[in-house]
Amino acid sequence: MPRLTVTLAATSERIGEAMHKHNGVEKVIIIGSGPAGWTAALYAVRANLNPLVFAGRPKTVPTTILPGGQLMLTTEVENYPGFPHGVTGPKLMAYFEQQAVRFGTRIVTDNGLTPDVSNPDDGHNSAYHDCKWVDFSNRPFVVAGEDGTEYRSHTVIVATGATANWLGLPNEQRLARTGGGVSACAVCDGALPVFRNKVVGVVGGGDSAVEEATYLTRFASKVHLIHRRDQLRASKIMAERALKDPKIEILWNKAVVDVLGDQMISGIKLKDTRNNQESTLELGGLFMAIGHTPATEFLQGQLELDAKKYIKLKDPYRSTTSVAGVFAAGDCVDSVYRQAVTAAGMGCKAALDAERWLGEHGIE
Ligand code: NAP
Repeated sequence: MPRLTVTLAATSERIGEAMHKHNGVEKVIIIGSGPAGWTAALYAVRANLNPLVFAGRPKTVPTTILPGGQLMLTTEVENYPGFPHGVTGPKLMAYFEQQAVRFGTRIVTDNGLTPDVSNPDDGHNSAYHDCKWVDFSNRPFVVAGEDGTEYRSHTVIVATGATANWLGLPNEQRLARTGGGVSACAVCDGALPVFRNKVVGVVGGGDSAVEEATYLTRFASKVHLIHRRDQLRASKIMAERALKDPKIEILWNKAVVDVLGDQMISGIKLKDTRNNQESTLELGGLFMAIGHTPATEFLQGQLELDAKKYIKLKDPYRSTTSVAGVFAAGDCVDSVYRQAVTAAGMGCKAALDAERWLGEHGIE
């Protein structure tokens, strides 16, 4: 793995607040800034662990990696407890960030200083840095930033999330970003008034697609399940439920090739995967359920991952990983629940586990 040698002094200058470092070694570095990352930071900073966060540099379509995570791509969030009237995804994540920074959480940035985060719309997060690689084979661990700077830390919390897979169509991305009725999370967005009594579509043929289509039948007048093959990948019992549901119609062998609509989706263009014949379908909402990809590529060879590249936890009730002192939380370990509230809970656990680990190893 190529490395740039950066002296500790240079690293200290960049961070600016280096005098808080524990002998030049961080107590905890957090990689990721979704609900899990900021919650880990909040708990760590309040435990006097002086956390340093790699919040991630915003990327544009089609990678859609954003500081704040997947909630930055949702509009109204109505299922995060504590917000009885709902809150937008970006606003909720701004609150998470502000709360963590309020107690002194530091963020790796272009100028080395943690910015004023009070205005979420001032573009401050465009200066946030990615973590490029990690070395967990020696202690203290090394976490390298995008400019090659190497940071050393006794513990690391990985909370890099997972990105929903998208088709990658320009109009799909445009309408997803602007609240135009295209979403990758029916559980998050399906109950919004904009989808009530509408004909909506779900793309995919796995358990998520079937589950989301079934969920949407509570609100929509009809749900088209659009699958590219003639057989569902979903488990038999779930597939049967969808096949029997009078509100769900499965469109077999169909690929979505365009999303129609200006401010709001009005329909989709479909292509038959057997004979390439094109057709259009009027829709008032479209939900992608074509899987997720955990952001764990940079961990290959460093942490044990499962077959789908999610981080394997050593103990399912903890945040411990295959490397002692490295903890993981949120969607990068969780292919099942993938909710902001579950990710936040895991972030809390990871910070408590890191604090305990440091205490057990006499690192004050
Ligand atoms: P998945 O099982 O990987 O299914 C993804 C589906 O999307 C597949 O049907 C696939 O089609 C389709 N797809 C992928 N890329 C596509 C593209 N570019 N265009 C069109 N279609 C595309 O993912 P998942 O449904 O999210 O499930 C992930 C895991 O979570 C699975 O292990 C699942 O069992 C589990 N899960 C369980 C539950 C539950 O038990 N309640 C609920 C949700 C998820 P092909 O079939 O043609 O490949």
